[in-house]
Amino acid sequence: HAKRDGGDRIEAFRTTTSDTAAARNPLDVDLKTAIDNREVQILFQPIFDLSNGQLAGAEALMRWHHPQRGAISPSEFIPLAERAGLIEKLGRVVIEQTSSQLKNWLSGGEMDKNFFLSINLSAQQLSSETMLNDMRSLVSTNPKIAQRFLLEVTESQVMTSPEHSAYVLDSLKSLGFRLALDDFGVGHSSLSYLHRFPFDFIKIPSTFVQLDERHGIAQTQMPIMKSIMSLSHDLDLKVIAEGAESDEEVARIQGLGCHYAQGFAFSKAISGGEFEQLLAKDAKSRKQAARDAEQRA
Ligand code: C2E
Ligand code: MG
Ligand code: MG
Ligand code: MG
Repeated sequence: HAKRDGGDRIEAFRTTTSDTAAARNPLDVDLKTAIDNREVQILFQPIFDLSNGQLAGAEALMRWHHPQRGAISPSEFIPLAERAGLIEKLGRVVIEQTSSQLKNWLSGGEMDKNFFLSINLSAQQLSSETMLNDMRSLVSTNPKIAQRFLLEVTESQVMTSPEHSAYVLDSLKSLGFRLALDDFGVGHSSLSYLHRFPFDFIKIPSTFVQLDERHGIAQTQMPIMKSIMSLSHDLDLKVIAEGAESDEEVARIQGLGCHYAQGFAFSKAISGGEFEQLLAKDAKSRKQAARDAEQRA
């Protein structure tokens, strides 16, 4: 065990700017082992259609269950994985786990034909050829599953190298993937370049979605949200609001014409098994809604 740790530590030193930081952070060493030991898992946060309340899709969110530290957030270990050269391996874990879940769900026969499963891509995945090749092979071996994926990238990732990003995103799009711009409005110069990329969705971060009357945030967000909605309409983009926690927040984004939402108001991220039950429940309510419509006609 000591020998394996030592080998990984050298790798961490090579790719980290500060040796002392790496020495203080044994997580770099653990992550490779964690991936091999399947301590990294995927949870699914449901995404709902605000026009009819039905299940529209899910976002796959990674979790690292560390034997000593407990659950570690992806915001903490994704940067680490990038530094340690493990992001491609981690990216494959996500694709493999989500593909196998999708296979299960599809065989259950309860998934709506437009259902999407979104996965997050990291900056390095977007800039290297590996992810694109992984996606090409996914499409060739499993076209039915590939067309269910929605791929999320953030503005700052795209803007690091706009030309190359445009090439990668165009390639993914022509493979049949749907694309989302995550955390819209957090970066800068969003409006001027948005039309250059083949996005289908934009995702509004919780900072614009959550209300905080005490700090006057509700007032300042309104014009921002309104302009995002009108922009998305003009560019024919669907909007997903993130981090809706209260009924009031849901009502407000609904009133603004936002198409989809996710957040604790609906559900936190749940396991694949729990999600399967949700799919069954949703299929039932869709069937009921169809019967009701038939009776009215
Ligand atoms: P994100 O893509 O913007 O994901 C949304 C984050 O908001 C998730 O945090 C989710 O759990 C959290 N969230 C959802 N609803 C609510 C809510 O109502 N209230 C609050 N306070 N939070 C809510 P999480 O799972 O910790 O992920 C953090 C970030 O890590 C993600 O931000 C994404 O950028 C990244 N990430 C997650 N999974 C992956 C992955 O598989 N690959 C890559 N490259 N990045 C990932
Ligand atoms: Mg995301
Ligand atoms: Mg986001
Ligand atoms: Mg976010």
